[in-house]
Amino acid sequence: MGAEKTMISKMFDLTDRRVLITGSTRGIGRVLLGAFADAGALPIVHGRDAERLECELESLREQYGAQRVAGIAFDLADEQAIDDGIARIDREFGSIDILVNNAGIQHREPLLEVSSDDWDRVLRTNLTSAFLVGRAVARGMVERGRGKIVNILSIQSELARVTIGPYTASKGGLRNLTKAMAAEWAGRGLQVNGVAPGYIRTELTQALIDDERFNTWVLERTPAGRWGEPADIAGAVCWLASDAAAFVNGQTIFVDGGMTAVV
Ligand code: NDP
Repeated sequence: MGAEKTMISKMFDLTDRRVLITGSTRGIGRVLLGAFADAGALPIVHGRDAERLECELESLREQYGAQRVAGIAFDLADEQAIDDGIARIDREFGSIDILVNNAGIQHREPLLEVSSDDWDRVLRTNLTSAFLVGRAVARGMVERGRGKIVNILSIQSELARVTIGPYTASKGGLRNLTKAMAAEWAGRGLQVNGVAPGYIRTELTQALIDDERFNTWVLERTPAGRWGEPADIAGAVCWLASDAAAFVNGQTIFVDGGMTAVV
């Protein structure tokens, strides 16, 4: 019994694993970062806004120790900035064991009115950046023969909704990119999977929470009868980032209170 316990806790052990979470200065990413830090991992906080990043980094270092948390700001819309950022992480902090492609943006407008600039901005931030960051990080992972990538998807990876066409296209694409990464890299020792949150209470969704009609719709449409909290996502992500998921590849885990299970 004791030996079994030791083995199972070892499978979930994230001690000293270096983890980069894109878009971790707030919202779901920030909570994931705290979960990894609590589990003994070495998290790297990332965002676009350097000032906000410094602020978060300072408070994280106070909580977990200056040596255990690193930070870097770069714009995911800029390919060169991504390659430079990942090279800097390798050089200054060490190689990345776990990548969580979390950063994402929303744009709400009927498809007939969406400009190609807004379309490109959403696709570039939500989909292309996961390919670019994933490619840069996976090069090192493939060389080392191990690594974990978790892409943060959405229920919109599966289901559409009016006025969020670009987001839906980006998240559907990201789900299939997850499979493509798994197809090419699973045999090289990497595990690539996706976690698809339902409606989660963050800055991104505050306007929806404040909209009484929408809020009522979410509560009625979700079997669990509530909005998810960012912490609800952390368990699935930490599991997929651990050795406990060593034979899981190309999958999407919906963490949505049952929303995609029912009509
Ligand atoms: P937030 O808006 O709260 O946070 C977004 C994060 O992404 C911030 O840290 C932001 O940093 C960063 N970011 C955005 N654009 C860029 C960029 N171009 N370059 C660098 N960093 C960038 O988002 P959430 O926590 O709500 O969402 C996180 C992920 O979860 C997203 O992929 C989202 O689609 C997904 N999701 C969210 C759901 C929800 O209900 N909230 C439901 C399903 C999925 P900065 O402030 O510096 O720009």
